[in-house]
Parts: sequence; structure tokens; C-alpha cells
Amino acid sequence: MNTIEAALYYFNQAANHLELSAPVRKLLLTPKRELKVQIAIPLDNGEVATFIGFRIQHDDARGPMKGGLRYHPEVDADEVTTLAQLMTWKTAVVDLPYGGAKGGIGVDPKSLSRNELERITRGFIDAIHDTIGPDRDIPAPDMGTNAQVMAWAVNQYEKYHGFSPAVITGKPLELHGSQGREEATGRGVMIITKATFAALHRPLSGAKVALQGFGNVGYFAAAFLHEAGAKILGVTDVTGGVWNPLGLDVPALKKWAAEKGSVAGFPGSTPLTNDELLRSDVDLLIPAALGGVLTEEIARDVRAKVIIEAANAPTLAVADEVLNKKGIVVVPDILANAGGVTVSYFEWVQNLQQFRWDLAKIRGELDRIMTAGFDEVWRVSRERKVSLRTAAYIIGIGRVARATQLAGY
Ligand code: GLU
Repeated sequence: MNTIEAALYYFNQAANHLELSAPVRKLLLTPKRELKVQIAIPLDNGEVATFIGFRIQHDDARGPMKGGLRYHPEVDADEVTTLAQLMTWKTAVVDLPYGGAKGGIGVDPKSLSRNELERITRGFIDAIHDTIGPDRDIPAPDMGTNAQVMAWAVNQYEKYHGFSPAVITGKPLELHGSQGREEATGRGVMIITKATFAALHRPLSGAKVALQGFGNVGYFAAAFLHEAGAKILGVTDVTGGVWNPLGLDVPALKKWAAEKGSVAGFPGSTPLTNDELLRSDVDLLIPAALGGVLTEEIARDVRAKVIIEAANAPTLAVADEVLNKKGIVVVPDILANAGGVTVSYFEWVQNLQQFRWDLAKIRGELDRIMTAGFDEVWRVSRERKVSLRTAAYIIGIGRVARATQLAGY
């Protein structure tokens, strides 16, 4: 069982509730367009290196397709297709006027020099520029990419199409990016955590948290939860992990990780493995790294009462069943991490209107959209007596199905 099968399983559970016919299910699951391109670049040593790039455009019934670009060695066609589909449901759950897409290159960006990273990004845009666009498909950062990569991407696109900042979101502020985009996914995770704890009548202040991943999403989630009074006891990243039963000093940990390249060895903490983190005795567990980390075996040992999925597709289907049976509340990725694409939407709107919003406006609107998304998912989950995941899928898939049927084929 992998993340691809998990996404299909979750889709079918919701489709059964919506009583969707087999032909409609097939229509909703079939990607609109799949691009697989060659990217050949000269390396710094003069050798040529060839990579495969993907852009999967899943569905555009509710608007232009939207989703990140992932640079990671495990990127392949199946994974990107699943992630594209998740973007379609995600934008629909928080009711953004978008469809879903995802792209990526099977490469470890850390193995490339800065110049090589720039060349591979420009090569990728050369290959896909005709199929993306501000009103067609709007890429953004994802795992392994950042604002600098988006700056090169938009610059390359503009060589063909002229000034068009709205084609890419997650750009640097100096190049028509938005206030609050970098912190957005982590801030959204905090908003959803607050809403979940309030709905469960659990205090967030003093709540014990374990967090997997200390990249852009994990760090900002930790920082905002720390600010909200939660205690971050454990954090792991790709190279190691740290634990402090009294709570880690998140700003100091960030400084340490920036200097050392990892959280490992942070003064005043003990070492922690990923396995230990996922099984730790905490109130809240936040996977904020790779997909597929919550397996059936780990799910049996999870002691957290609440899981907020900051990563995309962290929970396998069998694990989800185990967690549900144990009464653990799981807030699904397509709601929990929608803060990133929501502020991407604000960036796109600002670019199209050529008007700027300040941080307070961004944060206020993010709070409004995420809270409304949560309330709707919570309500459907109570009304239909289903998990929050199934409720989110029912809302997302239901909206896409209705838009598709209204528009006609
Ligand atoms: N990569 C992020 C996600 O998975 C953001 C996508 C976007 O901003 O378009 O939701």
C-alpha cells in the first residue's frame, strides 16, 4: 500500500458517500494533461546531465490549475499524478477558484550547484512554458524548491511571453511576491491546530507537540505553535532529531539548524530518531516532511491524540483506519496544509490587480479562509458521522463534480 493507493482509497470512500457513478469517478480521476519532458543541462564540470521533468495538470473544472514544483530524487510520474489530484481537492476544500496540478524533477537539489539549479529550472520552463500561464496553470514552490527557483522560473517564462508575474507564485518580494507567502503553510497549520483543539475542547496552551520536518513548513508551524503556547518537545529533520521534555526553544533551534545544517546536536536536547518521534508520548503529532511516513505498524504505536497533516499524503490508507479506530483525530493534508496555496492565491490576485496587500491583510484573509474551511469540514464530519478526512474529500470532490456537471462536457 503506498500513497497512490491511499489517495484512490480516500477518493472512493468519499465518492461512495456522494453516490458518484463509475463514469463520473473515471472522469474526475483522469488527469487532463500529463507532460513528461527531457531536461539536458551542462554541469559545472562540462559533462551533460539529463533529467526528467513532469507537469501533471489534473483538473480545471473550477479554474486555472495550481500546484507546486517538487525537486526530489523520489519524484516520478505516479507520485506527481497523485499530488496533482490532491491539489484539485485541496483548492476545492478551501474554495479557491482553482483546479489542481503538480510538477517536479527527479533530482536531489542539494547535489547541484547554484548555477546547475538555475540551469535545470530554466530548462524545465523552456520545456513547459507553452502549457502553463496565469489563466491556465500556475506553478509554485514545493519540496526542494523556493522563492529563488520561482524567480528563475518566472524570468524564463517572461522571455517567451513578456511581463507576467501571475504565472508563478511563491516569488521573492522584490519580484512581485506576496507578504506572508513563505510562512503561509506553517501559519495555516497553526490556524487549523487552534480550530481543532477548540472544537475538541482541548487547551492548546501547554499542549505537547512532536514535529517531523524542520523545512519551510515545519519550522513556521513550530514557530507559530510555540508562540501560541504549545510546547514543541521533539523535532526531526533529514539528518537527525532532538528531544527536550520541557519544550525546545524554537527560535534558538532555528538559528542552530541554519548554522549547522540540521537540528541534530542542539544544546540541552537528547537525540531522537524519526521512529521515536512518531511514537512519542505527545498530544499532537505533525508530519511535515515526506509522504507515506505513517504506516500501519507505526499507526498502531502512535500515542498522540491529534495528528495534523502538514505534509502531503503522509498517511497510508491502512494506517488511517488504525488511527480512526484508536479514536485519534486526523486533520487531513488537503485541509491542514492549504495555507500555502491560499496565500499563493492572494499573490496571484495581487499580481493580476497590480495592487499590494500588507501582512496584516494577508494574515486576516488566511485566517478567514482556513477557519471557514475547517468549520465546513467539521460540520460535514459530524453530520455524516465520518472522519475529518472523508468529510474533506466529500466537500472537495463534491464541489469539483458539481462544477463539472454544470459546465457540461
Ligand atoms: N506546494 C504547495 C502545496 O502542496 C503550494 C502549492 C501552491 O501554492 O500552488 O499545497
